[in-house]
Amino acid sequence: KLSKRLGAVAAFIPNGTKIADIGSDHAYLPCYCVKHGIAREAVAGEVADGPYRSARRQVEQLGLAGKISVRKGDGLDVLSPGEAECITIAGMGGALIASILERGKEKLTGTKRLILQPNVGSLFVRKWCVENGWVIIGERILEEDGKIYEILAADAEARPQNLTEAELMMGPILIKENNAAFRKKWQSEKRKWQHILRKMSEAEPSPELEEKKSHYRHLIALAEEV
Ligand code: SAM
Repeated sequence: KLSKRLGAVAAFIPNGTKIADIGSDHAYLPCYCVKHGIAREAVAGEVADGPYRSARRQVEQLGLAGKISVRKGDGLDVLSPGEAECITIAGMGGALIASILERGKEKLTGTKRLILQPNVGSLFVRKWCVENGWVIIGERILEEDGKIYEILAADAEARPQNLTEAELMMGPILIKENNAAFRKKWQSEKRKWQHILRKMSEAEPSPELEEKKSHYRHLIALAEEV
């Protein structure tokens, strides 16, 4: 059984596609998807030796080696162009996810969907999508084991997508949905920023400090706006 978080990633996979899961660790996601017929075939990519070996072990133990190719390498290096119709990257920071996509851009021709689950910094992921012609078609936010996770699905579509600053930060679909996990996340972020502001007010005033303070005031205003 998959975690709620990876289950939400799997729910965005178009049925019967060939997927690539980058940073697969134990290859839980590709194993589950191939076993349950969600994915036809899969590539599991891992850059680190330990996780790469546990992915291999998992795939072999489940007898899925014929359908899941476990490969060692950095980001999308493990793929040939267009090899995967759907690419999943989960459980990393948003800046790292964006840099993996940016560095592997030429491998994305023919890929139809990206499913991205940044642990933090989903802003970087949305920015990359908007700047590179990936339209955000689905988003989810959920709480599991006391942590809040965001999942983004983006399709290669030739239509413009304009997101406001608030939408880039908090997610256009998540803002509309405005569920309990979403409110909890941004209330807690807001409290963090307010705390930082209070600490800054105790420090020696300087132009740099004023600039930082107005940055945090701006973030608080954005969160309050929604
Ligand atoms: N995707 C799984 C999940 O969501 O449960 C595993 C997440 S785990 C916290 C992150 C994995 O990404 C680690 O196993 C790490 O080795 C791998 N990773 C980090 N940077 C990577 C890169 N540039 N290319 C491939 N894998 C990477």
